[in-house]
Amino acid sequence: MSTGTIAIVGAGQAGGWAAQTLRSEGFAGRVVLIGDEPHRPYERPPLSKAVLSGDAHADTTHLLKPEAFDALGIDWRPNVGATFIDRAAKQLHLTQGEHVPYDKLILCSGGRARRLNIPGADLPGVFSLRSIEDAAALGAALSAGKRLLVIGGGWIGLEVAATARKKGMDVTVVEAMGRLCERTVPPEISGYLLQLHTTHGVDIRLGTGIEHLVQSARGGLTASFTDGHQLECDAVLVGVGLVPNDELAREAGLACEGGVRVDSQCRSSDPDILAAGDVATWHCEWAGRRMRLESWQNAQEQGIAAARAALGIAVNHQPLPWFWSDQYEVNLQIFGMPTPAHDVVVRGDRNSSSFVMFFLDAGKVVAALGPNAARDLRFARRLIERRTRVDAAQLADLQVPLAKL
Ligand SMILES: Cc1cc2nc3c(=O)[nH]c(=O)nc-3n(C[C@H](O)[C@H](O)[C@H](O)COP(=O)(O)OP(=O)(O)OC[C@H]3O[C@@H](n4cnc5c(N)ncnc54)[C@H](O)[C@@H]3O)c2cc1C
Repeated sequence: MSTGTIAIVGAGQAGGWAAQTLRSEGFAGRVVLIGDEPHRPYERPPLSKAVLSGDAHADTTHLLKPEAFDALGIDWRPNVGATFIDRAAKQLHLTQGEHVPYDKLILCSGGRARRLNIPGADLPGVFSLRSIEDAAALGAALSAGKRLLVIGGGWIGLEVAATARKKGMDVTVVEAMGRLCERTVPPEISGYLLQLHTTHGVDIRLGTGIEHLVQSARGGLTASFTDGHQLECDAVLVGVGLVPNDELAREAGLACEGGVRVDSQCRSSDPDILAAGDVATWHCEWAGRRMRLESWQNAQEQGIAAARAALGIAVNHQPLPWFWSDQYEVNLQIFGMPTPAHDVVVRGDRNSSSFVMFFLDAGKVVAALGPNAARDLRFARRLIERRTRVDAAQLADLQVPLAKL
């Protein structure tokens, strides 16, 4: 397909990559990029790190410089929401009543921060973090000597906790599950994260939740825990996960299952509608199950794959999952999908600042992760992608270069 109209809902990371890929693949037709935010496509990872700490300006998150983006000749609609997909007429309805006809439609609508369903969740001083505006509002509330309560011990909560500690705040993290990042890392790494944060002075409370929040007499907030404790704080960050923005797809009758169901060619149950990024659920061969992958890498690669697929180019979106997180002086990277069922081999001292943990299934490396170990993890990635069978003793032996394996 080289002419016609391709509409993209969501001008975030996946949508931005889809739009620029259509052009780089030579599509000369009309590209309509509909985004309900005021910004050109941008990346979110710095919002909990350098942008939140004030070390980087929000503009640095943009996928492309404004001139480069404008040169793509895209019909970009900022501050406009898509409200309805008329599949029979192949038209997308927008806020303000406009209808955009499409030949192909790519849904890149991402997700929104899950809200806490407790009394006081809407009080001033309670924040969530998804957008540039969220980062500006939360950033303004972070200041030395004040107390931050983070609800949710997942990646965003922990990154904000680290940023707030660096700014000199007192930080408490409360996590309802029994360990940190329980959904995404095995117990060894939860333990590592716990130690990392307690060493940096964060008060971590596991296995307890927040029952309600009230405005306190001195102008801050009082949080009541399910275990009966109370905590006074100046600000609260709620980091309890993401809700996929799949309402458009569901209302249009597309198959959805905790997100828009797509195949490895990013096609939904309607072959003229594709989806990519945080909103899409696909069968990940590396995990052996259908899932949404909320990561920078997936948003980029699936956005590219969806654009190519929309043009009729054969794609098979099966990237080896890669995720990173920056907390304090630690850059933690994860390749593959480690689970507690895998055999674990540790290379290096797991109490040191840098080591690699390999996860083996029937003698083959299927996942690896580690703090401050980017170089070793590059080799680990190759072992995983080539499904290499390795000798566990050699893997653990620092004298044996990984390149040799
Ligand atoms: C604070 C933060 C830190 C992160 N850190 C990391 C990290 O360190 N490493 C990592 O791998 N990943 C990280 N991520 C995850 C990564 O940023 C996301 O996976 C990625 O942004 C997903 O991109 P997306 O395009 O699918 O969705 P988004 O970037 O959310 O874009 C979706 C866009 O669609 C818009 N939209 C929704 N509905 C409509 C509609 N009906 N009409 C018009 N527009 C609509 C939304 O407003 C949004 O602008 C982080 C995410 C956050 C929020």
